[in-house]
Amino acid sequence: MIERIKAILRSLLLFELLKGMALTGRHLFRRKITVLYPEQKTPLSPRFRGLHALRRYPSGEERCIGCKLCEAVCPALAITIEAAERADGTRRTTRYDIDYNKCIFCGFCEEACPVDAIVETRIFEFHGEKRGDLYYTKEMLLAVGEKYEEQIAKDRAADAAYR
Ligand code: SF4
Ligand code: SF4
Repeated sequence: MIERIKAILRSLLLFELLKGMALTGRHLFRRKITVLYPEQKTPLSPRFRGLHALRRYPSGEERCIGCKLCEAVCPALAITIEAAERADGTRRTTRYDIDYNKCIFCGFCEEACPVDAIVETRIFEFHGEKRGDLYYTKEMLLAVGEKYEEQIAKDRAADAAYR
């Protein structure tokens, strides 16, 4: 009975509302922790798992040797690779596609790669308006690698320092 009276009084005196306003008041003059995205951005970890890139060596040669470990380890079956031997006897991919409709950004592919060829970058601002837009070909992934190699190399070095 007493509990019921207490509940009625709390309701009549707008106790919950006052409690909420007190909380708002306490935070009114504190340092703001929200950011005005996209004008402002929060820091990203060098281990951030965003859009993939295929990397080249400084000589311009593709790192990927077409071993298909990334394809085998991908839990979402998002990677499709075809590989062939070149005239010089080395093995390279003739097709390397990632389907972002399937990818869950788990990072297993980059963990599996023995030559640091497939990596995930800091890029998260990409989208597709139809299914095909999220299908990235080898050329597109190499282009990402070429554009962001400097940042990728720094992030890989920082990542190695964690281990
Ligand atoms: S991040 Fe994970 S799901 Fe995406 S392609 Fe790599 S292994 Fe597959
Ligand atoms: S990206 Fe790495 S793991 Fe995948 S096929 Fe190329 S060399 Fe092998």
